[in-house]
Amino acid sequence: MKKIGLVAHDDKKDDMVAFALEHRQKLETFELFGTGTTGGRVAEGAGLSISRLKSGPLGGDAQLGAMICEGQLDALIFFIDPLSAMPHDVDVKALVRLATLYDIPFACNRSTAQAVLAAL
Ligand code: PGA
Repeated sequence: MKKIGLVAHDDKKDDMVAFALEHRQKLETFELFGTGTTGGRVAEGAGLSISRLKSGPLGGDAQLGAMICEGQLDALIFFIDPLSAMPHDVDVKALVRLATLYDIPFACNRSTAQAVLAAL
């Protein structure tokens, strides 16, 4: 089963839940991993089974980055908020960098996420 990481910044969490609901059937065919709060929202709002890592600001983004390094994540859907400053900006950048470096399918907004899901 392929593994997908899901992360959404606070202002994008409603979008992530809506996306997960819309694509619930497809997402069910993957093993899902999410940062703490995003994972909770997706589990509750879309009824999907998802392994919850630490919250992003507490290291969840870094955990997903480590999974990418270890070859344990096949795709990343990361709804980034481009309008807010993040206390864990370095972790956000590191996660984007690692997804790029290891060349995994990586979506940072909803329309790209749909394209990535369709291609997987
Ligand atoms: P969260 O983390 O899902 O725990 O809120 C997301 C993030 O801000 O990186």
